[in-house]
Amino acid sequence: MTFKELGLSAPILKAIATQGYETPSPIQAKAIPAVLDGRDVMAAAQTGTGKTAGFTLPILENLSTGRRAQANHVRTLILTPTRELAAQVGENVALYSKHMSLTSAVVFGGVKINPQMMKLRKGVDILVATPGRLVDLIDRRALTLSKVEILVLDEVDQMLDLGFIHAIRRLVPLLPQKRQSLFFSATMPREIGALADDLLRFCNLYGGENIACDMYFSCLDGN
Ligand code: AMP
Repeated sequence: MTFKELGLSAPILKAIATQGYETPSPIQAKAIPAVLDGRDVMAAAQTGTGKTAGFTLPILENLSTGRRAQANHVRTLILTPTRELAAQVGENVALYSKHMSLTSAVVFGGVKINPQMMKLRKGVDILVATPGRLVDLIDRRALTLSKVEILVLDEVDQMLDLGFIHAIRRLVPLLPQKRQSLFFSATMPREIGALADDLLRFCNLYGGENIACDMYFSCLDGN
């Protein structure tokens, strides 16, 4: 299996070749075709499995057609629990999209908000954010989520551990109902199943036992 066979196009293939990636990891082999297909995806996966490229590469491909983001709008919203992870995901997005004309930004708390507001003025195709700062930016009218095409929740279990459930619940009604949603978590306790039920299409999770999602897979065991 090659990245090309998974359906990625030349600008992305060039960027991943520069990174030295030769073959897709198991989660990439599963996630890339599903995301390209426009499906909602829920995956049990940890950091270190290559999950960031697993969702970022097909998102870039999907965004490469279609209109660029308009002022104060974002086309893809990636939520992460910590600023470190946000920065890391943002770096990956920038690396993988370097031969494309897509724009991206990273926002998180603990730093001045004004430069982040400036960055959002023209709109960005991909925004990586921590939930608390995102809510602040929305409250200050620095951005609107009404044209989000793809939502990614990364490390959902950590987000819930850090108490971000209220922020996430506040954000969801601001998103268009017609969107693609991707959901990644290392563990799938009942609370996470309930959140997935609300966020994903065709999702019916009950304590992790009754999984009927558009696309669900576990890559915890490396398979
Ligand atoms: P992640 O699980 O997304 O945090 O990725 C873990 C590490 O694996 C990162 O340093 C990536 O650059 C690297 N990586 C991701 N996909 C591949 C791949 N297909 N081949 C080799 N390395 C990869």
